Amino acid sequence: MPLALPERLDAAYGLDFHMHSTASDGALSPTELVELAAARDVQAMALTDHDTIEGVSEAVAAGKRLGVAVLPGAEISCQWRGVTIHMVALLPKRPGAALTAGLADQARFRAERNVEIARRLERIGLTDAYARAQAQAGEREALGRPDFARALVEAGLVDDVQSAFKKYLGAGKTGDVKQHWPSLGDAASWIDASGGVALIAHPLRYKLTRKKMVTLLDDAQAAGCIGAELVSGFQNPDRGRDLAQILTRREMYGSLGSDFHAPGGPVTPGRFSPIPRTAIAPVWAHPRLAEWCAAATG
Ligand code: AMP
Ligand code: MN
Ligand code: MN
Ligand code: MN
Repeated sequence: MPLALPERLDAAYGLDFHMHSTASDGALSPTELVELAAARDVQAMALTDHDTIEGVSEAVAAGKRLGVAVLPGAEISCQWRGVTIHMVALLPKRPGAALTAGLADQARFRAERNVEIARRLERIGLTDAYARAQAQAGEREALGRPDFARALVEAGLVDDVQSAFKKYLGAGKTGDVKQHWPSLGDAASWIDASGGVALIAHPLRYKLTRKKMVTLLDDAQAAGCIGAELVSGFQNPDRGRDLAQILTRREMYGSLGSDFHAPGGPVTPGRFSPIPRTAIAPVWAHPRLAEWCAAATG
C-alpha cells in the first residue's frame, strides 16, 4: 500500500519525526532503528540525532530497502534567554555551508563540554569520570550527558538516571555546561539557508512557565521557526491541547515524534501521546517538504 500523508495533523498514524540513533545518544544503529520503525508500522520518519546528520545516509538507505520514507534531520542544541533549547531541523535538501560549519562547531563544543563535565563530576566524587562515561557509550563515539548519568548510576553515586539529571546534570546543576551553544536565531538561520524547516522540539519539556513558553514560541517564530512539536513522547493531555491552541493562534505548523532513544523504555518508534484535536497544519504540508512528500508517497 503506498504511503499517504494525511491532510490533518490529528489524523496522523505511523509517522514519527523525532528519533535518535548511535550517531548521538540512541542505542540502535541507524539501520536497526529503521528496522524497528518498519516493524512498528512506521511509514515515514525523520532521524534527528543531536547536533549531527552522520547517521542520515545509512538511515535513508535502510528506509529505501524497508519501505520507510526517511527524512534527514537533526536536533540542534541552542540557547535562548539563558535556557538550553532543542530545535528540530527537517532537511529535505543537502545541508548548506552554514549548517555544515555549524554542526562541525557543535561537535567541537560537545567534545570540549564533555571534558568539562568530566572535570566537574570528578569534583563530586566520580573518579575517572571521562573514561567511565566512555565505557557507558560503548561503540558510540559521541558522548552525551546520558552517558555521564549512567556512569554516576554505575558508580553508585545515584540510584537511577533520573536522579543523576536531577542532582548533577540537569538545568542549572554542576554538570550542565551550556555556554557554547549557538543562539536560537543562528540555529534557525542555518536550517533556513539549507532549505529545511526549523521547529521547536518538545516545548512542554523545558520546565518553563506557560508565559515563558509562549514567549519562546513567539521569539522562535520571529527567528524563522515554522512551528513546534505538538506531541513529543508522552505528555500531559491538557497541556497538549493548550499548546495546540497557542500554535493555532500563531498559524504555526505542528510536528510529532516519539523522541525514541532505546528499546525497553516507555516509548517506541511511532508511539506517543494521543494527538489533540486540532486544525493546525502538519509539518509535512510545508512547501519546503512538498518534494520529499511527493517522492515518499509516489
Ligand atoms: P546532551 O545532549 O548531552 O545535553 O544530553 C541531553 C539528553 O539527555 C537528552 O536528549 C535526553 O536524551 C537526555 N536527558 C535529558 N534529561 C533527562 C532526564 N531527566 N532523564 C533522562 N534522560 C534525560
Ligand atoms: Mn537525547
Ligand atoms: Mn531534546
Ligand atoms: Mn531528542
